Amino acid sequence: LYGNARQNSNGRDYSIAQTRTTALKAADALQGETLRAGPIVGGWMVNRALSPVTNPADRSHVIGEASSATVDDVNEAIRLARDVQPAWNAAGGVYRAGVLRAMAGALDAATDRLVALLTVEGGKTLNDGVAEVREAVDFCRYYAMLAERQFGAPMILDGPVGEVNHLELHGRGVFACISPWNFPLAIFTGQIAAALAAGNAVIAKPAEQTPLIAAEAVRLYHKAGLDPALLALLPGDGGTVGAVIVNHPGIDGVAFTGGTDTATAINRSLAARAGPIVPFIAETGGLNGMFVDSTALREQVVDDVILSAFGSAGQRCSALRLLYLPHDTADDIVKALVGALQAQVVGDPADPATDIGPVIDDEARDALRSHLARLEKEANVIARYDTGTLAGQGTFFGPVIAEIPTPDFLEREVFGPILHIYRYDPADLADVAGKLAARGYGLTLGVHSRIDRFADEVRAAVPAGNVYVNRSIIGAVVGVQPFGGEGLSGTGPKAGGPNALLRYAVERAVSVNI
Ligand code: GLU
Repeated sequence: LYGNARQNSNGRDYSIAQTRTTALKAADALQGETLRAGPIVGGWMVNRALSPVTNPADRSHVIGEASSATVDDVNEAIRLARDVQPAWNAAGGVYRAGVLRAMAGALDAATDRLVALLTVEGGKTLNDGVAEVREAVDFCRYYAMLAERQFGAPMILDGPVGEVNHLELHGRGVFACISPWNFPLAIFTGQIAAALAAGNAVIAKPAEQTPLIAAEAVRLYHKAGLDPALLALLPGDGGTVGAVIVNHPGIDGVAFTGGTDTATAINRSLAARAGPIVPFIAETGGLNGMFVDSTALREQVVDDVILSAFGSAGQRCSALRLLYLPHDTADDIVKALVGALQAQVVGDPADPATDIGPVIDDEARDALRSHLARLEKEANVIARYDTGTLAGQGTFFGPVIAEIPTPDFLEREVFGPILHIYRYDPADLADVAGKLAARGYGLTLGVHSRIDRFADEVRAAVPAGNVYVNRSIIGAVVGVQPFGGEGLSGTGPKAGGPNALLRYAVERAVSVNI
């Protein structure tokens, strides 16, 4: 339906020596700068005492400084946003699409610098970094296309002779966009672009771990022509700055990506607010499984499992947590997985040879260590990558494969490179799949099989917003795999899908008797 109107961005190919050289130059250039992030209100960064931001791959490396927003910053940003939003809404979808395309162009042109920033602040490998910039560009262009199609002109409806009926879409007002550290540019930009495309002004709160990349993006968008009052950046802690934003009466909608517990807490505070009912869009975690049967191709399973479980150091909501292998081929696949795990390169994400970088911070690493301690006691840890001296330098955590004794061993998402394997008897498939479904998540689901009926059975048994058959379960592409879950995993609508903008908008039916 939307096939020809838009093209996804090209990115970079780091297997080409020249491209690697450019990437290194961009990284060197960053070293010479003092990067700063703080509240950006009305296009100006508020000057305030700053605290250091460090590189997760090397905690002694201070890459910049950041400060948090105050209640006054929040009030002022929302006041400015409320002032300009009606004109932005009235300007229509075609006008807004032009601004979003300029934002996409600015991101695209800054790719090398943004990748370098994603590497030093977010611990992203070069390939993950460039994929993230591409996704951010794609979000801007995709939502620009939807703005034109859905907000460009009213939809004409049927009606009796002598009456004209149509349906218009409008922005809701000021949207709060609260984004996670694991996609500090792509998800940050995706939420903002969706809210803007639908005719809203935006108050953006990036994750406290990644303020620099967010500030860089906001500066780019303002320079590209977005009225600064339409997009404010309010960095800081979720519990303080996030809570002030969410509870502010000037906020007309909230988009959030992050943990399930935080989503539930935000939902509760929105429900308790006096005044209008505030729409909430949440995208949260998953307890993602992949079911393999004995017809699956071993090499393909191994490739897809390694990428899905350990790519981005397992720090994707979409990442594989639970692999179900049938008794008869499990030995073979497990052996190959253990070999593939040892062949991974864990290290400095800025090095093009690295497959897996650090996890985001001490808290993330401590959580993984304590889960590993549980696995060592109650399960069977069959492979563990030793990060050696890296562990003393940054927040590295080597990937782990463990076999679990029961299908319901894992109660909740563990965010990092730990793969749990359960060997199942094909006669028990319905029971095993039912236990996963009973946990209540519904984000990604993988199937590896040559038999359609098997894939159908798994799909029917386990809820999931994104089902992947005979491929990896990560890396949804804008406009190709609209992304988002159900149940504990999110409210929808799907990011990068044709219905993405609808909940950011209100519908108005107009009926004219001529
Ligand atoms: N969209 C990403 C993917 O498909 C995951 C997003 C997330 O981790 O929130 O891998």
